[in-house]
Amino acid sequence: MDKQQEFVLRTLEERDIRFVRLWFTDVLGYLKSVAVAPAELEQAFDEGIGFDGSAIEGFARVYESDMIAKPDPGTFQILPWRAEAPGTARMFCDILMPDGSPSFADPRYVLKRILAKTSDLGFTFYTHPEIEFFLLKDKPVDGSRPTPADSSGYFDHTPQNVGMDFRRQAITMLESMGISVEFSHHEGAPGQQEIDLRYADALSTADNIMTFRLVMKQVALEQGVQATFMPKPFSEYPGSGMHTHLSLFEGDRNAFYESGAEYQLSKVGRSFIAGLLKHAAEISAVTNQWVNSYKRIWGGSSRAAGAGGEAPSYICWGHNNRSALIRVPMYKPGKTGSARVEVRSIDSGANPYLTYAVLLAAGLKGIEEGYELPAGADDDVWALSDAERRAMGIEPLPQNLGEAIALMEKSELVAETLGEHVFDFFLRNKKQEWEEYRSEVTAFELKALLPVL
Ligand code: GLU
Ligand code: MG
Ligand code: MG
Repeated sequence: MDKQQEFVLRTLEERDIRFVRLWFTDVLGYLKSVAVAPAELEQAFDEGIGFDGSAIEGFARVYESDMIAKPDPGTFQILPWRAEAPGTARMFCDILMPDGSPSFADPRYVLKRILAKTSDLGFTFYTHPEIEFFLLKDKPVDGSRPTPADSSGYFDHTPQNVGMDFRRQAITMLESMGISVEFSHHEGAPGQQEIDLRYADALSTADNIMTFRLVMKQVALEQGVQATFMPKPFSEYPGSGMHTHLSLFEGDRNAFYESGAEYQLSKVGRSFIAGLLKHAAEISAVTNQWVNSYKRIWGGSSRAAGAGGEAPSYICWGHNNRSALIRVPMYKPGKTGSARVEVRSIDSGANPYLTYAVLLAAGLKGIEEGYELPAGADDDVWALSDAERRAMGIEPLPQNLGEAIALMEKSELVAETLGEHVFDFFLRNKKQEWEEYRSEVTAFELKALLPVL
């Protein structure tokens, strides 16, 4: 038994923890949990805990339904809302096949696999997510419109602001679980919040995002409201992005940074961005995986009124250009040695493991193949005409999930990164979502056509 495992077992005793939840994530990004008694844990560390994976999205084909969850002791945390004795703790798990080999259906393993390749190339991958979400008074299940929990706007600070109390409690809870928060504020739409996590290695960040979503929902319930990470719950307000800042390090050195280079961007940084751009459309079904994701990308019908909310629609990069898919934040003199890229397409409904895996794969491909970085776009690309954008070589992101799926299906990069099992399951599941959606007669059609036809 190693030191971390011993620490977990000791803490369970000292803190009178009676329930240990073993967490993992399915292919669509839903958190799954199986609770074990502390007495079982020693064995769980050794051999894992068996469970039937056949009912879990993307997990098992019928003939391989027996799966094993093996807890990662480095992720042990007591759940603050269940801290009083007898308390509850959680650990993230790796999912194994009955023979002990890693499960090809486990999104955490998909990310670990590409991180291992990254480390073979001499790099460590860091991520810093800015997570947007809505607080709602209710979550109607009949398809009717929810009500935002407040009526504040961007950076508003008002006494009756539900969000303020919420954010204080939410951040305290995150910090008590070892998740550091860098910034938080009210976002542009009524009820919309943003909390930015401190940068960490990509696997920790993905685990933290899964915890974050649960904590936000938990704190919201305690305050009599509901939290949602749906990419675009309102046509007339901006959607919820999960912009993420990415960087590669070689030891202690930021590999994207080169003093004196244009924009202080090294060759590695430039090729990485070029990779993100070149593969942006084919990885879109992963970074923006829901029918609803494309309502955010395409801003509903009234971008001018702000409903688009600065979500990127076109594949380009720039500096202080919030219409760009990739933004290279301005270099701050004094902050030497630091360079990073912000990917703005990702939405809050994404599976963080798969999303970071495909982004990393795209960036690494750029480095390996020495892609050239195209010219940056400093104009507001939404304001350009189609012809102007075409002349500048700026392509749109997919228009909808159907288009995104078709591009993903032809992508060697995505197939290789996700592995055959996740790739096939994902495509099958998303095709079904698209089929169901496109055959549905919507409120829009009824409203527009019934009165006139
Ligand atoms: N809510 C916007 C989005 O959907 C982003 C606003 C911002 O720049 O933070 O991406
Ligand atoms: Mg924001
Ligand atoms: Mg941002």
